Amino acid sequence: MSKETTMEDIVSLAKRRGFVFSSSEIYGGFAAVYDFGPYGTELAKNIRELWWKEMVQENDNIVGLDSSIFMSPRVWEASGHVGGFSDPLAECKNCHTRVRVDHLLENVGVFADEKMSDEEINKLLSENLEKVSCPKCNKNDFSDAKSFNLLVKSNLGNFTGDWSKEPTYLRGETCQGIHVNFKNVLDSSRVKVPFGIAQIGKAFRNEITARQFIFRKREFEQMEMQYFVHPDDVNKEYENWREKRWNFYINKLGFKKENLNWHEHENFAFYAKAAWDIEYKFPFGFKELEGIHNRSNHDLSTHAKYSGVKLAYRNPQTGEEFVPWVVETSVGVDRMFLAVLCEAYTQEKLEDGKERIVLKLPYKLAPVKVAVFPLLKNKKDLQEKAREVFDSLKSKYMCEYDDNGNVGKRYRRQDEIGTPYCVTIDFDTLEDSSVTVRNRDTMEQERIKIEDLESFLEKNLTR
Ligand code: ATP
Repeated sequence: MSKETTMEDIVSLAKRRGFVFSSSEIYGGFAAVYDFGPYGTELAKNIRELWWKEMVQENDNIVGLDSSIFMSPRVWEASGHVGGFSDPLAECKNCHTRVRVDHLLENVGVFADEKMSDEEINKLLSENLEKVSCPKCNKNDFSDAKSFNLLVKSNLGNFTGDWSKEPTYLRGETCQGIHVNFKNVLDSSRVKVPFGIAQIGKAFRNEITARQFIFRKREFEQMEMQYFVHPDDVNKEYENWREKRWNFYINKLGFKKENLNWHEHENFAFYAKAAWDIEYKFPFGFKELEGIHNRSNHDLSTHAKYSGVKLAYRNPQTGEEFVPWVVETSVGVDRMFLAVLCEAYTQEKLEDGKERIVLKLPYKLAPVKVAVFPLLKNKKDLQEKAREVFDSLKSKYMCEYDDNGNVGKRYRRQDEIGTPYCVTIDFDTLEDSSVTVRNRDTMEQERIKIEDLESFLEKNLTR
């Protein structure tokens, strides 16, 4: 990200180039809900694939799962979400903006404990009232804070009049699907502790504040992995996963070290024994990107208690039986997407004094890998040759055929969506079967024989 990059730059590019749209935009949008456009869909898919490869494919003791969004409401009672998954909500008495009181306080360096009662949080707010202000009107006159439960309710399967009394919930986090399937996975696969179960899927939260673009959505996607370990090994495994996840951002996503930060939670959620976040330097400051938590054996123990089903592990060698502890890694697809866009967004001054915007995405994340251009639109033989090249590449790579405007404009368009290579078919191609290949980052161009194109791309696109 170049220094002066703002959220407006990112939001504008995301919309202009079809990465992200507001949901139901023609109806005026729908707060904190967004859609991925054509390139956003590709980028999100590539992010999911990279994470899956890192977590599941490359670890022979981590298996995948795809559990449902709807689960028995008992799951959410047992997990503590019905009783304790809430944020402190207050309203500005002047402009009626709803605010999260813990965030108001956090902005002025005061950290509220997640376990605080409404009374305690109100006391903290009144002690710091002089320092805080409404993000919309800047006044500091708020209603009393009340705990607001974040679970989203539905009437699924409930056909009585007053379903709100016995709601079914849209899952608030994907990992509960993992915990309730612990026994199924254990009984049906050959995993042995330590092992992990990974899942990617939608989660829903009635977030109080809807700001900061896709950073905080009400419908979002999580990539979570629960690693089941012997209680004696939890600290070692915890440190191991902290290191692995940090290295993922540096080595696999190419993030600059100075844009990442560790943040240790002192006041963590009801289930956790330790919680560190990897923070990313978004244009609005360092904020949580991924959480790495020691969840103790809270989830398995409470699900065992509520369901009456034993959830334990027996070591086949020693016969020792225990309830595994869990190291969790949890990151949002949408948050990683936003961080990736911010990291890649670059404004460059060119030699001719003009500026270009280029998304310097890792090649493996680029929505389009190769763009193929005929030099001129209205020359049939150039078009035919370019189509031939495009057709030969499209089964291997996400390619785009573009004959709109002049080649310079086409380069700019591809730069903005982060396409690593542009291939131009010109009149010489018809004579010597060579094409011009132009690199996104260096803007250097080289002539390559069509027959060598695939191996060239194969070699260069894997990095
Ligand atoms: P916060 O304190 O910001 O509300 P959290 O600590 O409740 O977040 P977790 O429950 O730890 O978040 O969620 C794990 C990960 O899921 C986060 O690190 C983030 O990447 C992602 N995530 C959580 N909530 C949202 C959301 N509303 N929109 C997008 N991603 C989210």
